[in-house]
Amino acid sequence: VREGRGGRRVEWPLRPPVVCVMGHVDHGKTTLLDALRQSEVAAAEAGGITQRLGAFHIPGVGEGGEEGGLGITVLDTPGHAAFKAMRMHGALATDIVLLVVSATDGLQEQTLEVLRMLEEQWAEEEEDFRMQRGGEGGKMEVFSPSLSLMVAVTKVDKLHGEEEMQAALSKIEHALAAHGIMSEALGGDVQVVPVSAVTGAGLPDLLDRVRLQAEMLELRADREGPGEGVILDAGMERGFGMVMSVLMRWGSLVQGDVVVAGEQWGRVKKILGARNSPGKDGEGGGAVDRALPSMPVRVLGLRDLPTPGQEVIVVKSEERAEAVAKARREAAERRRYQETAA
Ligand code: GDP
Repeated sequence: VREGRGGRRVEWPLRPPVVCVMGHVDHGKTTLLDALRQSEVAAAEAGGITQRLGAFHIPGVGEGGEEGGLGITVLDTPGHAAFKAMRMHGALATDIVLLVVSATDGLQEQTLEVLRMLEEQWAEEEEDFRMQRGGEGGKMEVFSPSLSLMVAVTKVDKLHGEEEMQAALSKIEHALAAHGIMSEALGGDVQVVPVSAVTGAGLPDLLDRVRLQAEMLELRADREGPGEGVILDAGMERGFGMVMSVLMRWGSLVQGDVVVAGEQWGRVKKILGARNSPGKDGEGGGAVDRALPSMPVRVLGLRDLPTPGQEVIVVKSEERAEAVAKARREAAERRRYQETAA
């Protein structure tokens, strides 16, 4: 039981972890995501279909907020550029970073650079958030005490026998240790999980360990209050008009809610499951009644294109929404002016 907003004593339910998958190019991130998502995205990307920042959800057993029954939300960030785009509140949307390292190529210096960037950004955003929300007892408790890291060593099907496997793992673990990242084998708490996205070996174990990690982090959020989330993506979609992808972080979002999305606003016309989340039809993307914390959804009803990385909040009225959006636009304008002046 914790002190909620407005001094109410509430027990926030557990929410699914949000996992961000990162890795050096060609190490197998897309194939791994694809195996987790069980769709044809890797093939589509090879064919030149746009790579957009997305998310999908792996349902848990008996999902619905029951302990142990939580799913996993996976963010697909294409790397460096995505973090730039998500500069406002993006990093804080992540609970667990899953680093993908190829068993045959080993750890790349560049990968660690991106990781360091993410950590710095996380710390910065956390500080901002604490200031905005009044620190202890506030909403910060829904977020992890720090970014949690896990490592998936992939392509292990390319190794021959247990000996090669141990050698490859050990090499990667020592390379990580050289950068202060201590695996369980070396006395730390970072889980290193061998997998193959091609044969599927180790994937159930990987998901189990993500769930275990999430349980330890004890991620909680209110499901009743006004919804809040972060914009992952926005654009025009044939047959839908303006659509924004939102990762929910707090409260709930329902049809008819008035939202401010970054510097734009609108009334929610419809909420759809994330494009790549497995839905009833096997393809995902069906209508949902209520978007809850950690759920990636697509939202229809915005009037203008919002900026990915910015925050979405539910407000009481259209007048309020218009005023908040306007104030944000003006603040952004002032920032741009100051930046050019400096
Ligand atoms: P990304 O750039 O990190 O997204 O890497 P990709 O997922 O595109 O993978 C790069 C190459 O490695 C592709 O040719 C994949 O088929 C191959 N690959 C990825 N994962 C595995 C794996 O688990 N086993 C094997 N044998 N090949 C893999």
